[in-house]
Amino acid sequence: MKKLIDKLYRENYLDEKELLDLLNNINKENKDYLIDKAHQTRMRTYGDKVFMRGLIEFTNYCKMDCVYCGIRASNKNADRYRLTIEEILSACEMGDRLGYKTFVLQGGEDAFYTDDKIVEIIREIKKEFPDTAITLSIGEKSYESYKRYYDAGADRYLLRHETASKELYERLHPKASFENRRECLWNLKKIGYQVGAGFMVGLPGQTNEDYVKDLHFLKELQPHMIGIGPFISHKDTPLAHKENGTLEETVVMLALIRLFLPDVLLPATTALGTIDPLGREKGLKAGGNVVMPNLSPISVREKYSLYNGKICTGDEAAECRKCIEGRITRAGFSIDMSRGDNINWRRK
Ligand code: SAH
Repeated sequence: MKKLIDKLYRENYLDEKELLDLLNNINKENKDYLIDKAHQTRMRTYGDKVFMRGLIEFTNYCKMDCVYCGIRASNKNADRYRLTIEEILSACEMGDRLGYKTFVLQGGEDAFYTDDKIVEIIREIKKEFPDTAITLSIGEKSYESYKRYYDAGADRYLLRHETASKELYERLHPKASFENRRECLWNLKKIGYQVGAGFMVGLPGQTNEDYVKDLHFLKELQPHMIGIGPFISHKDTPLAHKENGTLEETVVMLALIRLFLPDVLLPATTALGTIDPLGREKGLKAGGNVVMPNLSPISVREKYSLYNGKICTGDEAAECRKCIEGRITRAGFSIDMSRGDNINWRRK
């Protein structure tokens, strides 16, 4: 096992057979070794820095029906909300006062926000906060729409591929196309965004063969950011009673991603912090180098419920920042409030 991990550390690649062998046979001892190699790799690329992003969840209306997700269209119990442009801007102001240099606008696929409205939101934010990066995470759109947002000033786009297994993808996304989601990622890259892909860990029926596909797809796509987290069941979805993904398997995936793509920006996600009180710290120690505290108004936090038990629903943004900062420094890392662009990216 150690030989394989050393090879991955040196070459940033394992073929299908080697990777499957590693996943099938990893034990406590070589897991620690893997995490240690991932940590060494992150120290070589971005050092001990952890980049901070302010997350604004601006709508929980969604036309899609992802089987695992609490804001899926079919969930009649979801209490729906939309933020106005003024509310979005005041969340940004709060973020700016706290020192954030990235705002992440995330939401369901909500036709209320037409391309014109999204462009207006981007322009308004850039007008007030010209040196702040804007990340969008609003799902699958046409090439033309993505291009309009980019030209209006959006810098980054998060669109997880969710799973690289076509069969599993189709089971979990009744209204969607596996091919289109991937096409979107290639389009975003072509336009010039810093692109974030990623997948869930521990989905019902997901296998080590599926993770091999995920890692190889990511290696091929070469995204600038990768968001992964454990699947967590949501009470109002068809997967309500399915088991959650675990901290252990998510941490192994984070370490493998850091070794496959050394320069990637890799968040220790909220979902990871939700399944274990020290989840985010463990994610950072396995190669994670981004944290995304919530800037959404308190009144809507509980409503953006993708999965059960999402943390930090009560914290003030300022408190939230303090709490997370303490956690990061106690874990032995340093906070970086700069824009934190991927080292290989320049705006075209
Ligand atoms: N509408 C946007 C944003 C989706 S929400 C889009 O389509 O990209 C952001 C991410 O939350 C999703 O990509 C998914 O990976 C994750 N997510 C949703 N439900 C989840 C659940 N039950 N458990 C864990 N992660 C979940």
